[in-house]
Amino acid sequence: MSLIQHYINGAPFSANDGRQQEVFNPATGAVSGKVVLADLAEVNAVVAAAKAAAPAWADTAPLRRARVMFKFKELLDRHHKELATLITREHGKVLSDAMGEVTRGIEIVEFACGIPQLAKTQFSDNIGGGIDNWNLRQPLGVTAGITPFNFPFMVPMWMAPIAIATGNTFILKPSERDPSVSLLVAELFKQAGLPDGVFNVLQGDKVAVDGLLQHPDVAAISFVGSTPIAEYIYSEGTRLGKRVQALGGAKNHLVVMPDANLEQAVDALMGAAYGSAGERCMAISVAVAVGDVADKLVAALIPRVQTLKIKNGMEADAEMGPLVTAIHQAKVEGYIADGVKEGASLLVDGRGVTVPGHEGGFFLGGTLFDHVKEGMKIHREEIFGPVLCVVRVPDFAAALELINRHEFGNGVSLFTSDGNTAREFSRRVQVGMVGINVPIPVPMAWHSFGGWKRSLFGDVHAYGEEGLRFYTRYKSIMQRWPDSIAKGAEFTMPVAK
Ligand code: NAD
Repeated sequence: MSLIQHYINGAPFSANDGRQQEVFNPATGAVSGKVVLADLAEVNAVVAAAKAAAPAWADTAPLRRARVMFKFKELLDRHHKELATLITREHGKVLSDAMGEVTRGIEIVEFACGIPQLAKTQFSDNIGGGIDNWNLRQPLGVTAGITPFNFPFMVPMWMAPIAIATGNTFILKPSERDPSVSLLVAELFKQAGLPDGVFNVLQGDKVAVDGLLQHPDVAAISFVGSTPIAEYIYSEGTRLGKRVQALGGAKNHLVVMPDANLEQAVDALMGAAYGSAGERCMAISVAVAVGDVADKLVAALIPRVQTLKIKNGMEADAEMGPLVTAIHQAKVEGYIADGVKEGASLLVDGRGVTVPGHEGGFFLGGTLFDHVKEGMKIHREEIFGPVLCVVRVPDFAAALELINRHEFGNGVSLFTSDGNTAREFSRRVQVGMVGINVPIPVPMAWHSFGGWKRSLFGDVHAYGEEGLRFYTRYKSIMQRWPDSIAKGAEFTMPVAK
């Protein structure tokens, strides 16, 4: 059984007598390792390492930082399957999905490779009297990222490559439920030539998070996780003078218009509701059936949900793996019971599903509710499991109002064949990421990711240019040189030093 440690100053680290927590293989239910949980001394040690490394890294030429990113990307490509396997073993998602997660994370590294170009700023020549005015984007110093269990590789990659490429040092506090991949990332950063202390991993729970929040040397915190914790991190962090972006939970709707291609809409709902067992912040958990499409939609969904291939995610033909822990499985099952109690029609019940040879695994079958009403708990709250709710509405306006009244605004999707409906929807919907005939519109690395309303606390979205803004401070410089100083001739080609 492995001991999953911190990674501080270029090496694994943990106190001998520290607290530990079990990590499971969700497909078997067996304990696969133990993760150490930081105490305040370890928080202080990691921040001290990141602080010590910060000045030299901030002074390293962006081109040199980019070269480390290029090497890191090459190493990630080489270790793609190993990273995905670590994800599947601790998270449970199917291996092909974990491979996709790694790809989406690598894309942010590719974006960060362009940092010399991205970090360029404006320059105004001779604003008057021989004065020039220009801007700098300078690093913040020590930054930290606190990440959720559901994307143990991709979400840290939303943060670390951009924080580091812009000249900051970074402390990753991964989820204690699937922490192993963070250590392979640390090792690959080191192999890529990143100086010790620039990327660090602090394993832990609330003690670690509160330690980072309260530490005066941590300048900025990026958080991704559930809404109550996101709100707490944002309010505490900003109160203590830090820059904070905190991405929270979601309840994503997919509207099916009567003129939609039904086959495509059903395929989209299957992948988006049940992929990764619904444990995605961009999962579709509500199908909004407009007009007379509902009966046809539900009839097409039922056999598909009943025949989902639920298996250990390491098996090649698995479509859906287990949930992350037994506690989470019980929570999702509780939501199904609530839905029945509140009067929704349970068309497919995933409770009680067993996978031969994996009786101890945390499996739950695909679940489908019809006649779900606004205000029911299963429509109000994020379930984060393989449960799709169908809400029936009379027309497009009712669909839009239903979505706009919801407290979350992460992702949304519309299936239609009408251009004007699509245009109206994308302009009027109060949601941060919109898909038209696309079920999970996760923006590409250079387009930034973020929700609206209680799905994001803070001013900027994650990665892309928004990430660049988050991890840098803007400075304006005005300069005049009344007498120029003769420098003498130089005969060699200037290179970045
Ligand atoms: P979580 O909020 O339980 O945990 C997220 C992080 O916060 C973890 O590192 C955890 O250790 C830490 N944490 C947990 N409880 C804490 C506490 N009381 N005080 C301080 N820190 C605490 O979330 P999760 O269950 O790991 O992940 C699932 C959630 O994340 C879902 O709500 C999902 O929608 C959300 N999510 C959002 C996005 C997004 O981009 N908006 C992306 C992925 C996941």
